[in-house]
Amino acid sequence: MTMLSIDAIDTYYGQSQALKNVSLEVNDGEVVTILGRNGAGKTTTLKSVIGFNEPRRGSITFKGEDITHKEPYERIQAGLGYVPEDREVWGKLTVEENLKIPADRGGNRTIEDIYAVFPKLEKLASNNAENLSGGEQQMLAIGRGMLGGTELLLLDEASEGLAPKIVDDVRRALHELKDELTILMVEQNVKLALDLADRCYILVNGEIVYDGAATELENSPEIIEQHISVD
Ligand code: ATP
Repeated sequence: MTMLSIDAIDTYYGQSQALKNVSLEVNDGEVVTILGRNGAGKTTTLKSVIGFNEPRRGSITFKGEDITHKEPYERIQAGLGYVPEDREVWGKLTVEENLKIPADRGGNRTIEDIYAVFPKLEKLASNNAENLSGGEQQMLAIGRGMLGGTELLLLDEASEGLAPKIVDDVRRALHELKDELTILMVEQNVKLALDLADRCYILVNGEIVYDGAATELENSPEIIEQHISVD
């Protein structure tokens, strides 16, 4: 079943068009990744889905309902979770308080479930989030995004700015989550993305230029070279 369907959206910042006729689908239980170079429109795609930058044309359907012009909070109530690129954990609140706010909205996951996936967070439960390392904050942001009835997690650059060892921790955690969450993720780290994803889309200058199974892209180094590799 299709959980999320983006149908031919055009999204702008003022006069500047960031997305051109972008269509993509995420099915129940899938991990789908959007790849592309800096400025390709990956973050903008997630912002259009969560409602921070509504498309001017096209539509977005979540669980069969047209959400194109709904408020972000309504989309969250409907079952979308969002982990922004800069994480945005609440620094002056403790780890536990950061988790309690979405947990109190309901849903069938508990804070204990999050601690089971990220045991380190339980040890840090009473620390202020601003004192956590980058990797710990990322785990907190993901944990927070999973609570409150999330069915589809929108994950922006989970690996960005993290040391390789920490990226490995995040990779392990996301592998565990794969079984219980549908994920649409944006990544610059192609290796991490292909390791986790079932399917991929590649954006170039706001347009989808490729979509296919992760295994197919893994075996197409020339496509990665052409559209994603920086060097
Ligand atoms: P990155 O990995 O650098 O975040 P991205 O693929 O996520 O790249 P977007 O952030 O979606 O790319 O940006 C797409 C285009 O929209 C770029 O040309 C960018 O300069 C432009 N853009 C992004 N945010 C804004 C903004 N707030 N105002 C104006 N233009 C913006």
